[in-house]
Amino acid sequence: MNLLIIIVLILVIAVVLAGLKAKQPSKAEGLSFESRDILFTPAERSFLGVLEQALDSRYRVFGKVRLGDLVKPAKGLSKSKRTTALNRINQKHLDFVICSVADLSVIGVVELDDQSHAREDRAGRDEFVDQALASAKILVARFSAKKGYAIQEVRARLVEVFKLAAESPVPTAAKTEPSPVQSETKAVAAPISAKPEEAVPVCPKCAAAMVKRQAKTGPHAGKLFWACSSYPKCRQVVAIEGN
Ligand SMILES: [Zn+2]
Repeated sequence: MNLLIIIVLILVIAVVLAGLKAKQPSKAEGLSFESRDILFTPAERSFLGVLEQALDSRYRVFGKVRLGDLVKPAKGLSKSKRTTALNRINQKHLDFVICSVADLSVIGVVELDDQSHAREDRAGRDEFVDQALASAKILVARFSAKKGYAIQEVRARLVEVFKLAAESPVPTAAKTEPSPVQSETKAVAAPISAKPEEAVPVCPKCAAAMVKRQAKTGPHAGKLFWACSSYPKCRQVVAIEGN
């Protein structure tokens, strides 16, 4: 009797394994690929830097998240409606998703509208995404792509749309914990918060958001200037007139 059970089990395992093997995609024979080299367009990249500056350390921003990773077809849909719903969410990507650092729960979606969003097909896509997110009760904030952003303005929009709570007082030691990159930039000058309503420029060389710094030494000591937030990878600076 036991032997029979073992034989049946072995047969079942063999069938399952054969099924798994059959489902494996074929080799990429004759297919070749090229790297796209960059993950984000310059506009997306600079806005990611702006979002990171506008949000405090309680939040983390993810980019290019599949809509299907955020929502799933609601229970009770017919089989054909479910398939349609899955097809429509699986190919679409959201520009940015803001999550809580603590548990990576979703706070909301940020979409950056550049010229491509004005196209008719893109407008239809945006409408579908908005409806899908609304029915899943996920909040969306849309921003227009610009050459520069006022961090304060972006922060105010995010607080309003996502109803973000005011930052609770955090011990300063925890907030200034140096990451390997930060400790390197610290040798240059600590970033200075941009004034409210001040437009933060975008790096002319690499399109990352710029941060304000003060020169510590040299002929410009004491002067404020814009430095690329990708420093030390990018050393672009922009002078601030009249200081
Ligand atoms: Zn740069």
